Amino acid sequence: MNLQKIEKKIQMACRTSKRKATDIKLIAVTKTIDALEMEELYQLGLRDFGENRTDSFLAKTAFLAAKKDITWHFIGTLQTRKVKDILTKIDYLHSLDRLSLAKEIEKRATTKIKCFLEINISGEEKKHGFTKEAAIQFVKTFSFQHIEIVGLMAMAPFTQDQKELHQVFRDLKQVQLEIEALKLPHVPCHELSMGMTNDYPIAIEEGATSIRIGRALVND
Ligand SMILES: *Cc1c(COP(=O)(O)O)cnc(C)c1O
Repeated sequence: MNLQKIEKKIQMACRTSKRKATDIKLIAVTKTIDALEMEELYQLGLRDFGENRTDSFLAKTAFLAAKKDITWHFIGTLQTRKVKDILTKIDYLHSLDRLSLAKEIEKRATTKIKCFLEINISGEEKKHGFTKEAAIQFVKTFSFQHIEIVGLMAMAPFTQDQKELHQVFRDLKQVQLEIEALKLPHVPCHELSMGMTNDYPIAIEEGATSIRIGRALVND
């Protein structure tokens, strides 16, 4: 496990951008590791875990159920019919990407669910999420009692073009500020979930509050 190296890079990115490392939440994306390896990460001090598939999410929350201080993040595309299976086990949903999903959550939830609106910031066709315009429309017409929009989430294109990555994250930050400034009920929108193995230092420099790291935890 590679936690030290990642923490060092987080600190460097924070220094560059004059931010505090304690303001960045590192979410361990565990889709390629098993529950025993997750326990290892837990022993190393990690408390935020993210999964992108409902079956493995359920298996891992069950396996680690005794560890009550874990915060569980669901980060993948969530099928509407699976909402009822995992809703009570999610602390944060990072992938609220369509109105029909919001409606299903509203119907099933009994407490407020913290959600990130997923934004298709690079406009790639195969990516999920709201366009900027659709996101603003969504929050302005927001009528859900059981959903809180804590922030925005996006996935950058897989590229080594640093300039492009900076721009994508900067664009997302702009949308976040725009929505936050509306001061709408249930839509505080203070957070930014952005940055993965390929690009998390850049995401931090551009304002990420949560980074979602998978491969870098297990590879060199
Ligand atoms: C897999 C995944 C990640 C982590 O990606 P890495 O490149 O392994 O760091 C982050 N977010 C989502 C939505 C993912 O599916």
